[in-house]
Amino acid sequence: MSHIETPPLTMSPATTPPERPTKQALLKGWRRRCPSCGNGQLLSGYLKVRDECAVCGETLSHHRADDGPAYLTILIVGHLMVPFMMFAWTKFRPDPMVMVTIFSIGTVALSLYLLPRFKGMVVAYQWAKRMHGFGRDRDSAG
Ligand SMILES: [Zn+2]
Repeated sequence: MSHIETPPLTMSPATTPPERPTKQALLKGWRRRCPSCGNGQLLSGYLKVRDECAVCGETLSHHRADDGPAYLTILIVGHLMVPFMMFAWTKFRPDPMVMVTIFSIGTVALSLYLLPRFKGMVVAYQWAKRMHGFGRDRDSAG
């Protein structure tokens, strides 16, 4: 039986790029700013991610946010609204039409507020963890 050499799972210390601060990147993403510099706008329009930061030139087109922001929005809004509906119904017993109106508007408004912010955070997380194309440095990307 021969010994099989397996390549190391991590890059050697000499080639490992410096770590990016995840927490700061997530905060910048929440503010819909570039995860690298925190100054440039991350999104053009409501949800479209810019190809690159207008301030620092960081390439942002590497993101693969896909359904992540929508999933997070549904998760959070659902877990906030359902207990609040239970509370409002048992405590105040409002007219059903009042209940429907308030919670419809509240749910839509909260979703529209959170969705671009979660998208910023998902893109910032991918940037900080060097996922997808974010791992390549600008000078080595070509
Ligand atoms: Zn930037």
